[in-house]
Amino acid sequence: MRGELLIGVLSLFPAAALWLSWPRRAWASWACAGGAGLLWLGGMAAIDAGLRMQLAAAGAASLAACFYAGYVASRSAAEYARIDAGFAKRKSTRDELKGGLAAAKARAKDIETEQREVLALYGMVKGMAEAMTWTDIRPKLEVAVEQYLRVDEFAVYALEQRGQESLRLLARRRLQSSVGGSWETLSRWLQENGVPLTVPRVLEKPERAVALPVFDGEKLMGYFYARIPQGIDAETLLTKAQNFVDEISFAFRRIKLFHEVEKFSQVDGLTGTFRRGVLDERIAEEVVRAQTFKTTFCLMLLDIDKFKSLNDTYGHQFGDEVLRRVGELLRGSVYETDFVARYGGEEFAILLPRAEPAGVLRKAETVRKAIEDASFELAMQRVKVTVSLGIAHFPRDGQTADALVRQADVALYHAKENGRNRVIDVAEIRRPP
Ligand code: GH3
Ligand code: MG
Ligand code: MG
Repeated sequence: MRGELLIGVLSLFPAAALWLSWPRRAWASWACAGGAGLLWLGGMAAIDAGLRMQLAAAGAASLAACFYAGYVASRSAAEYARIDAGFAKRKSTRDELKGGLAAAKARAKDIETEQREVLALYGMVKGMAEAMTWTDIRPKLEVAVEQYLRVDEFAVYALEQRGQESLRLLARRRLQSSVGGSWETLSRWLQENGVPLTVPRVLEKPERAVALPVFDGEKLMGYFYARIPQGIDAETLLTKAQNFVDEISFAFRRIKLFHEVEKFSQVDGLTGTFRRGVLDERIAEEVVRAQTFKTTFCLMLLDIDKFKSLNDTYGHQFGDEVLRRVGELLRGSVYETDFVARYGGEEFAILLPRAEPAGVLRKAETVRKAIEDASFELAMQRVKVTVSLGIAHFPRDGQTADALVRQADVALYHAKENGRNRVIDVAEIRRPP
C-alpha cells in the first residue's frame, strides 16, 4: 500500500514541476526533480521487493519529466530574458526619443521666439529708416517699442531744434502720473537722486524701469524710459532697449540732417535769409491765413541804396560782405514769427504776420537806422551804406499776394524817388497832401 502511494506521489512531481516552474522559474523544476529523486531513492530502500520495478519505472519517468520541465522552463526563461532585454532596450529608445522630441519642441519654441524678435527688429529698423520728420517717427517708435521691446508703459524724449535746446517728450504710452511723464520731472528726479544721464541703467526706484540715453557722438539728443513689465528680466530688457536706442539714434541723426539739408536748400547761402521761392510760398500762405482768420500782415521791401556804385567803387567782394552783414542785421532785428528773405540781388523782403501799421513803421525805421549806423569798413576806410524801405499791408493795400508785392514796390520806388535812405508806407502816397 505504501509503495502504491509512493508511486502516486512520484507521478505528481512532473505536474508540480510544470506548474511551479511555468513560465520562467526553472529552479522549481530542478527542486521538484531533486525531491522526486530523493523520494525515489528512499522509496527503493523502503518499499517491498514486489513493487520495486514499478517504483523504479515511475521514479525514472518522474525524474525525466521533471528534468524535461526544467529544461523547457529554463529555455523559456532565457527566451523571456531576451524579450525583456528587448523591451528594456525599446523602452530606453522610446524614452530617448521622448526626450529628444521635448528638446526639439523647446528649441522650436526658442527659434519661433527668436524669429519673431528678428522680424520685430527688422520692422523697427525699416520703419525708422523711412522716418524723415519728428511727426513721421512718432507712430513708428510706438510700434517698435510694443513689438520689439514688448513694453506698454514708456516715454521717448528727443532734442528738437526749435528755439531753446532741450529734450522734449516725443512719444509716450501711459506713465502720465509717473516721473517719466515729462522730461522735466524725469530729469529732475534723476538729478536729485544722483543718477547720471549718460549711462543706461535699470532703476529700482521710484519704480522698476529701464532708462537709457540716446547719443549723437558725445551729445545727448534723446532719452528712453520704460517701466519693466511683471515677469520680464530687467537685464534682458536693458540689452534689447540698448539695440532700440541705437536704432533711434540713427533715426534721430537722420531727421536732424534732413532738417538741415531742407533748411539749407531754402536758405540763401550768402545772406542766411530765405530764398525768393520760399518767400512766395509764405506770402501765399499768409494771405490764406489772414483771409480765414480775418487778420492782417505786412510786407516790407528793402533795397540797398546805390549798391551798383558801391560794387563799382569798392569791388564785388566788398558788395558781397555788405549783403551778408545786412542779411545778418535783418535776421537779428525781427521776431521769430517774422520772415526775412532775399528778394533779389540787393533787395530783401520781410513778412510780419499780424503787425499793425504804426508798429511796422517804427520797426522799419529802426532797421533803416541800424544799417545807416553800422560800420562797413574796407582798408581802414568807413563806407556808408543806406537802405530804402517800402511797406504795404494786407488786406488794406492789396487783396492778393501779387497786388500786395506791387504796392510794397510802389512804396519802395517812392522812397528812392524821394532821396533814398527812408521808409515809406504805401498808404502815405495815396493820402492827399
Ligand atoms: P538804387 O539806390 O536805385 O537801388 O541803386 P542801385 O545801384 O542799388 O540799383 P540797381 O538795382 O541798379 O543795382 C543793383 C546792383 O546790385 C546791381 C548788381 O551788380 C548788384 N548785385 C546784385 N546781386 C549782387 C550780389 O550778389 N553781390 C554783389 N556784390 N552785387 C550784387
Ligand atoms: Mg535794386
Ligand atoms: Mg539798390
